[in-house]
Amino acid sequence: MLYTRDKTRRIKLGEVELGKGAPVAVQSMTCTDTRDVKATLNQIKELNQAGCEIVRLAVPDQEAALAFRPITDQSPLPVVADIHFDARLAVAAVENGAKGLRINPGNIGSTKAVDRVVDAAKAHHTPIRVGANSGSLPKELLKKHGGPTTEAIVEAALSHVRLLEERGFYDIKVSLKSSSVLNTIAACRALAEISDCPQHIGVTEAGGITSGTVKSAMGIGALLMEGIGDTFRVSLTADPVREVEVAWHILRAAGLRKRGVEIVSCPTCGRTEIDLMGLLAKVKKELAVITAPLTVAVMGCVVNGPGEASHADVGLAGGRGQGIIFAKGKVIKKVPESDLVEAFMDQVLKAQDEYLNN
Ligand code: SF4
Repeated sequence: MLYTRDKTRRIKLGEVELGKGAPVAVQSMTCTDTRDVKATLNQIKELNQAGCEIVRLAVPDQEAALAFRPITDQSPLPVVADIHFDARLAVAAVENGAKGLRINPGNIGSTKAVDRVVDAAKAHHTPIRVGANSGSLPKELLKKHGGPTTEAIVEAALSHVRLLEERGFYDIKVSLKSSSVLNTIAACRALAEISDCPQHIGVTEAGGITSGTVKSAMGIGALLMEGIGDTFRVSLTADPVREVEVAWHILRAAGLRKRGVEIVSCPTCGRTEIDLMGLLAKVKKELAVITAPLTVAVMGCVVNGPGEASHADVGLAGGRGQGIIFAKGKVIKKVPESDLVEAFMDQVLKAQDEYLNN
């Protein structure tokens, strides 16, 4: 049986439910120093505004683990502690309010250390994410499978799952990562065939905004459309707010969830008689504050423009030095190019009010 997201087991990070049909949740990770509580909270608030639903923080030392108390007390989002190798940090983060742990029990040393982490996680109902990355697989698995194969990645992750389950702990999610899109997809599919653990999916070290967006859209998008993946992070070498924006574009394109405005715009051509690119840049900036799931069209001419513009909630079709504003398929008015953004935004705000009041 394929454990698609309607069949995975349900876990809960704070108020956010994952698995067994829960909406696919958007995650990101702060890039501030976790010990700097103010800077970290500011970034968490920015991420929350952009639509992030779970946030992960690196915990390199005890000071960072203790910073979880003021951070989790004030964070609008459930905060996950990301820990490598150190059971004491994991226990401290859980006791200080972490709503999730990212740690591999197979890498934290003694059996007693694993027991301590599991006891703390059980006591605080804190789920644990385990995972495997093609770049850091154990030597014996690389030897057994002849390299970082799909089987090796899945076996590595399941060895961590086993350590938790044999202690009666089942609030587990699993991530299988590779910087190769094809390997990521193959590994996540293979896991979904044998495990009902919810999956945190993503293409790791995907790159800057352009290549990272494309790789993430391909890898995460393909899996989501097959029903695999309960939560995900778009990994970009950029401001994490960009990760959240791209994540919502992926969710919308996959037909799974909507948030904010979808912009339909034409590529421009020899028929364009207004500065459409300049207009689009201004419109995008203004639309950043709109949270209603509206569709708007910004089109360059009167050939295809009115058609698209009239199918959107709000549309704009350019002409020579002027443009036509549409709302719900009706022409609202014709305005000079200099007044287009303002007239367009008036209609967008009206459409948002209507959406929120219905
Ligand atoms: Fe060209 Fe008009 Fe199509 Fe834009 S909408 S690409 S301006 S034909």
